[in-house]
Amino acid sequence: MRLKLFRAATLRKENNMGLQQNIEIENLVGAYPMCGKCGQTQIVRDAWAYWSLLTRSWTLKTVFDGFSCDNCGGEVTPIWKVDKTFRLKRIVRLNDALRRGQDKHNTVVITAGLQQFGEAYLASVCQAVAGFDQFCEANDPHQEHDFGAITIDGTKLFWKIDYFNLEMNAHSLDKANEDITHRVLTIMLASEY
Ligand SMILES: [Zn+2]
Repeated sequence: MRLKLFRAATLRKENNMGLQQNIEIENLVGAYPMCGKCGQTQIVRDAWAYWSLLTRSWTLKTVFDGFSCDNCGGEVTPIWKVDKTFRLKRIVRLNDALRRGQDKHNTVVITAGLQQFGEAYLASVCQAVAGFDQFCEANDPHQEHDFGAITIDGTKLFWKIDYFNLEMNAHSLDKANEDITHRVLTIMLASEY
């Protein structure tokens, strides 16, 4: 696990399964188009393909603006829906990967109070956070695996995950998308929360 100090302003509870305002729904992980007329998902688009020497197959080059429905047989305006179960699974996978040090863009923050406990203690803390699996309705109401409480040698600790953009100056537009999200895992004393 990479350890790095981070400003205390991130120690703010954020537990928001709601979708972000500043991103088109079709760009969210888990989005899919549905026909506005018949409600089916057989949406097709005109596109150009090129022959790829690498994969020895036709590969998508350009997708044009219009949408058609294979079921209705004509041009339609799609309605974008989001598969929330798919999103949730992706968020859980990325959050679990972060605790195990396998996430792409991340920072791990150990609060000042916790750092005073020394290296050996911190090593067992990191191990406990990485292996945490006691999720329940009380500590994980949104089932995103973004918060946990542990007790080590009688001291109660919390860990939590926040989601920022890659520039670290705003929240991530889509925490289910690892390419645009910098995750921050904060481990703190319960008394610092
Ligand atoms: Zn249709």
